[in-house]
Amino acid sequence: MNDKHKNFDAEKLNRRKDRFSGYRYCPYCGKTLKEEHLDGQTRLACGEQDCDFVFYQNPIPAAGAVIVEDDRILMVKRAHPPRIGWWCFPAGFMEWREHPTQTAVREVREETGLEVKLTSFFEVYSGTDDPRNNAVLMLYLAEVVGGELKAADDALEVAWFSFDNLPEKIAFESHIQALADYQERFR
Ligand SMILES: [Zn+2]
Repeated sequence: MNDKHKNFDAEKLNRRKDRFSGYRYCPYCGKTLKEEHLDGQTRLACGEQDCDFVFYQNPIPAAGAVIVEDDRILMVKRAHPPRIGWWCFPAGFMEWREHPTQTAVREVREETGLEVKLTSFFEVYSGTDDPRNNAVLMLYLAEVVGGELKAADDALEVAWFSFDNLPEKIAFESHIQALADYQERFR
């Protein structure tokens, strides 16, 4: 394992995630946040009278691509935690001003070296098994229009897999479900 990942502790992160992501202080005024019952949920809110900060803990949107060519599917092997060495679709978290379609195209480029054109929306998934954060994953169908296949950025390896020889270690439940959904719909 890469030395810089030695402090990644999935159990600790999971506990933190389930406790308001570990947030303790108001980002506006710096006072201690307190649990309050708001909109039927327990939330963290700033107790200061002239501060209205409430921490709404939301899943983080992510996007990626399902790329199939000659009945083989493109997967990337993860270079960073969680689940280094496990396989997943090229995908990643959205940047602030991106549309998810831009995220999907960018992530494919960054992780695989390929330029893709999105051909249609595929499916949306709720991801709850990443210890860092919960996610909403939007997957698009895409086809390769350029570039050169090369593992880059967050990927240790990039490879095409035939559907009867998929990798055993798929990193996230949502990606496992997407593989099953794709095969049910298109094969
Ligand atoms: Zn405050």
